Amino acid sequence: MTQITIALTKGRILKETLPLLKQIGLEPLDDVFTSRKLLFPTTKDNIRLLILRGSDVPTYVQFGKADIGIAGKDGLLEHQGDGYYEPVDLGIAKCRLMTAAPVGYQRDVGRLRVATKYTKVAREYYAQQGRQIDLIKLYGAMELAPVMDLADEIVDIVDTGNTLKANGLEAREMIANISSRVIVNKAAMKTKFPVIKQILTALEEAVSAK
Ligand code: AMP
Repeated sequence: MTQITIALTKGRILKETLPLLKQIGLEPLDDVFTSRKLLFPTTKDNIRLLILRGSDVPTYVQFGKADIGIAGKDGLLEHQGDGYYEPVDLGIAKCRLMTAAPVGYQRDVGRLRVATKYTKVAREYYAQQGRQIDLIKLYGAMELAPVMDLADEIVDIVDTGNTLKANGLEAREMIANISSRVIVNKAAMKTKFPVIKQILTALEEAVSAK
């Protein structure tokens, strides 16, 4: 039987992914939220799940260590890798990738200090706008950077906007609409086509049934 490894993104995306997988008859055999394991057998003998950080999902899929991955578009835009296709938009964990700044902040003409974990996306976005920026790489709590005068603006994902508001910030420019996508290793798509196609079709049906 063709063995399939699916890499999932932990956190909010995982919570929204598991119901979809359940709908297609795929369930992990342990509780992924309480177990310390990272590799889970499932109700289908030939399919196992990896639970990873979102930014590592495209890496595992790109190198063929996972055949299929589920990851946020934000992480995929930042990863900028090849070696995989992106055939299905699951329409879950929706949010927006935006710039944000302190409420009422007016940009100066000079260089802008931008804090973000999305450094590639931010560099490209501000370059397109013709803005010179100094990038400050952070790994979390981007909202704190303008408050502490580490940066003038941030690039981050926004859902309700409550986190920005709680820190005296406001969303400014929209960079991209984000949702979770299914990615597939290019070689696996050829060598394991029938099984992968079946999984993709089932997922598409589960998404449109929602
Ligand atoms: P909110 O306060 O609703 O705008 O949510 C803001 C924070 O929640 C962001 O800074 C993110 O860290 C996180 N967040 C929002 N939406 C998502 C998502 N779809 N996937 C992962 N994290 C998210």
